[in-house]
Amino acid sequence: MTIQQRLAEIQVRIAAACTKSLRGQAVELLAVSKTHGADAVREAIVVGQMVFAENRVQEAMEKFPVLREAYPDMRLHLIGMLQTNKVRDAVALFDAVHAIDRQAIAAKLANEMQKQNRNLTCFIQVNTGAEPQKAGVMIADLPELLRFCREDAGLGIKGLMCIPPLAEDPSPHFKLLAELADEYQLLLLSMGMSADFETAIRLGATHVRVGSSIFGER
Ligand SMILES: *Cc1c(COP(=O)(O)O)cnc(C)c1O
Repeated sequence: MTIQQRLAEIQVRIAAACTKSLRGQAVELLAVSKTHGADAVREAIVVGQMVFAENRVQEAMEKFPVLREAYPDMRLHLIGMLQTNKVRDAVALFDAVHAIDRQAIAAKLANEMQKQNRNLTCFIQVNTGAEPQKAGVMIADLPELLRFCREDAGLGIKGLMCIPPLAEDPSPHFKLLAELADEYQLLLLSMGMSADFETAIRLGATHVRVGSSIFGER
């Protein structure tokens, strides 16, 4: 199957999942293009896919500046960990950041956004499975990080993001993330990947991050 055919199929499945959960089409598909080249991204753009996601700043910088120039309407989300020395580049290139998980990054982001007069949509990544090796703020530390972002850093947080533990049923993690977003009055939920985006939509995802089902195996 071509990228066009795979994209069409994913869109049909997203629409069906929205219908089934009685939601309007309020789900944004992020096409995760990491490890795939600019040609693959272009193939998606020409059939109308305008929102992409990458997990590494460096890799995105090699691929996207040219694409952004050619397609000013496209949008790019950073879904991977952000290091402090990459914040300046990230703010210049991306429209959204999903993996804010500590104060130092939040403060630096707020500072760079102001300097560059850019307004990125910000998500906090929550480590819903409390996995020691995984990025994301622990649930117990979420209130303090949110408070810091809002009051100290002046960084508007719009949503939450999670990556459930690989070997587990993702549903309880999606449910938990939705409850946390509700509790803290955050509107956006970035959850669901190739294997589980329909479940995520059923549980309230506003952004699904789909890579291999669109671009093929990595
Ligand atoms: C790679 C990646 C995805 C996409 O995963 P697929 O299983 O290929 O759909 C989603 N989210 C994050 C954070 C990723 O790094």
